[in-house]
Amino acid sequence: MHLIAIGGSDAGISAALRARELDPAAEVSVVVADAYPNFSICGIPYYVSGEVPRWRNLAHRSIADLEATGMSLRLDTTARRIDVAARKLLVTSADGTEELLGYDKLVVGTGAVPVRPPISGLAGPGALGPDDGVHLLHSMGDTFAVMRTLTEAAPASAVIVGAGYIGLEMADALTVRGLQVTQMEQLPEVLPTVDPDLGALVHAELVARGVQVLTGTTVRAISRNATGQAARLRVEATAADGTAVTRQADMVLVVVGVRPEVSLAVSAGATLGARGAITVDRMMRTGLPEVYAAGDCVITHHRLLGETYLPLGTTAHKQGRVAGENALGGNREFAGSLGTQVVKIFDQAAARTGLRDHEAIAAGFEPVTVAAEADDHKAYYPGSHRIHMRFTGDRATGRLLGVQLFGHRHAEIAKRIDIAATAIFHNMTVDAVSDLDLSYTPPLGSPWDAVQIGAQAWVRHARQL
Ligand SMILES: Cc1cc2nc3c(=O)[nH]c(=O)nc-3n(C[C@H](O)[C@H](O)[C@H](O)COP(=O)(O)OP(=O)(O)OC[C@H]3O[C@@H](n4cnc5c(N)ncnc54)[C@H](O)[C@@H]3O)c2cc1C
Repeated sequence: MHLIAIGGSDAGISAALRARELDPAAEVSVVVADAYPNFSICGIPYYVSGEVPRWRNLAHRSIADLEATGMSLRLDTTARRIDVAARKLLVTSADGTEELLGYDKLVVGTGAVPVRPPISGLAGPGALGPDDGVHLLHSMGDTFAVMRTLTEAAPASAVIVGAGYIGLEMADALTVRGLQVTQMEQLPEVLPTVDPDLGALVHAELVARGVQVLTGTTVRAISRNATGQAARLRVEATAADGTAVTRQADMVLVVVGVRPEVSLAVSAGATLGARGAITVDRMMRTGLPEVYAAGDCVITHHRLLGETYLPLGTTAHKQGRVAGENALGGNREFAGSLGTQVVKIFDQAAARTGLRDHEAIAAGFEPVTVAAEADDHKAYYPGSHRIHMRFTGDRATGRLLGVQLFGHRHAEIAKRIDIAATAIFHNMTVDAVSDLDLSYTPPLGSPWDAVQIGAQAWVRHARQL
C-alpha cells in the first residue's frame, strides 16, 4: 500500500502522519514543492516581528521528526499530473528531472495561493515584486523575501493592502519592528469577518498603536517613485467618497485573501464547488478513484451553512487527518467547521464562531444579535479586563448560532470563543449556556463566566421580543 500526499503543509502532513500512525507498514510519501515541510505559516507574522527569533522555530516538526515517523519526504518536488486511470503521479524535481510515481491512494493538499487583486503595478510586464519591496505573503519563500526587504532595504514605512486577520497581524508585526504602517481596506471597517461594532474596537487599537487606518479605501495602483523622493513606492487609492488618496511607502504588503490551488486536481478531472475549491464529500473523497483532498484547496463543510469555503489551519489539520485515515480504509467523516477563529492585534484579541446575522438569515434562521459586556475575572482582583461580546441566537428556537468576542489578549478570548464553539457544535440553546459548569476563582473568572453573562443578556432581550 503506497499513499502519496501532495503538499507539505497542514493538510498533506496531517494525512501522512495519520496514515503512518494507523498502519506502520504503510508506505507513505509526501511530495512538497518547496523545502519547508510542516512549517507553521500561521506563525509568520511573529517571525517577521522578531518575537520568534529564528525561522526554523516555526517548524511544527523538523524534517528528522517527520522522517522518524516513517514517511518519506520528496522536497523541492512539484506534482505535475495525476494519471487517475494508471494511478501514477508525474513529478519534477528542482533540476527538472521527471519521474512517475505509482500510488494506491492519493491525498491532494495543494493548499491556497494569495489573491493578486487588480491593482496596476502588480501584474503584467514590469510588475513590481519583492525586489521593489512589494510582497504577497503565504509561504516560507514569501517570508524570506519580506525579511530580505526588511533587513537589506531597511524600510521606514509600509502600506498594507487589506485588513483581514493576516493584514492586521502584519500591521502589528511591522509596527513592532519600528515601521510606520498605513493600512488600507476597501470595506467600511477592518476585520470584516466580525460585526462592524467589534471591528471598530480593533480599528481603535490599531490607531492607538500608531497605525494609520484608511477604511473604505480601494487601492488602484502601486508604482516606483522617482529617485530623490522620500520613499521608494507610491500607492494610489480611491476613498469611499471618490477622492484620490496617495501614500508614499518603502514597502507594500498585499494581503487580501487566498484562492484555492486546484490546477493539478482539475486537470485530473476533479469537480469544483464553492469559491472554485475542489468538491469533496465529508470523507474527503474527490469522486476520482482513490483520490482524496483536504485543506485550503477544498470546499469546507460548515455545520450550519453546508458547503462553503473557509481556509483555516485548524480545518486543514482535521480534514488531512480524515483523508489520511480513510485512504487507509477508514470510515471517518469531517465533522464540519463553524469558522471558529481568533486574532491578536497588539494587546487585544478578536474572535468569532458560528454565524453573523446575514449568514444566519441565508441559512434560514431568524437571528437576533445582542451586545453585552463583562469582566474576564472579578474586578476587585487586579488586572481585570472588559470583554465585549455579541451573541446571535435563533428567535424561533433559542438556538445559539454565533458569538463574537473582543478583549485584552490576556482575557482568555480564545478559550472563551471555544466554549461558544463547543456549545454551537452540540446545538445548544443560548439559555443552556448558563447551565454549563464552568470553572471559577476570582483572579481568573467569575461565578457566572463572561460567556454566560452574554448568554443571559441574549435571553433577557429575546424574552422581550
Ligand atoms: C500569515 C498567515 C497566518 C495564518 N494564521 C492562521 C491562524 O492563526 N489560524 C488558522 O487557523 N489559520 C491561519 N492561517 C491559514 C493556514 O495557514 C492555512 O489554512 C493552512 O496552512 C492550509 O494548509 P494546507 O495544507 O491546506 O495548504 P498550504 O499551507 O497552502 O500548503 C500547500 C502545500 O502544498 C504544496 N504544493 C502546492 N502545489 C504543489 C504541487 N503541485 N506539488 C507539490 N507540492 C505542492 C505547497 O508547497 C505547500 O507545501 C494563516 C495563513 C497565513 C499565510
